[in-house]
Amino acid sequence: MERILVSACLLGRPVRYDGRAKTSHDELLARWRAEGRLVPFCPEVEGGLPVPRPPAEIEGGAGGEAVLSGAARVRTATGEDVTEAFLAGARRALEAARKAGARIAILKEGSPSCGSLRIYDGTFQGRTAPGQGVTTALLERHGVRVFSEDRIPEAAAYLEELTARSGPVTRPEPRT
Ligand code: SF4
Repeated sequence: MERILVSACLLGRPVRYDGRAKTSHDELLARWRAEGRLVPFCPEVEGGLPVPRPPAEIEGGAGGEAVLSGAARVRTATGEDVTEAFLAGARRALEAARKAGARIAILKEGSPSCGSLRIYDGTFQGRTAPGQGVTTALLERHGVRVFSEDRIPEAAAYLEELTARSGPVTRPEPRT
């Protein structure tokens, strides 16, 4: 069975910077949860950051790839550098995906860790720019496809594609 790494905050865990969850009530997500496919994960908490914590953004509105390559840092509004925690969380997310055999992730849009299409632009003015978070960039670099909570039907189509590609489980014929 294909497993799916999911942002813990989408599954009701109060792990966001403000100490709250961002629960998704999507029916497909509920079905996958009942099937035991979901692997809840919060990269920022697993990277060692507390709950609650000051919000952070990638400086210059650069994407997660720039953080992975050392070209940009992640900072709080007061300038505290939290890059290492974001990188540690991303590495742990990749380990969790590998351990579970997950080739798909559904991560919270807009987050500097989990965003997949957009992130905040580094100005702390509530403005977003196209780009990925740090965890998303690392997962995609290693072949895990990331979808946001707004793209669950696309994740479902990809899940079907992966399942079809894997084909039915074959067992060796018993020896006579
Ligand atoms: Fe949710 Fe990801 Fe932020 Fe954790 S890091 S609270 S999982 S969006």
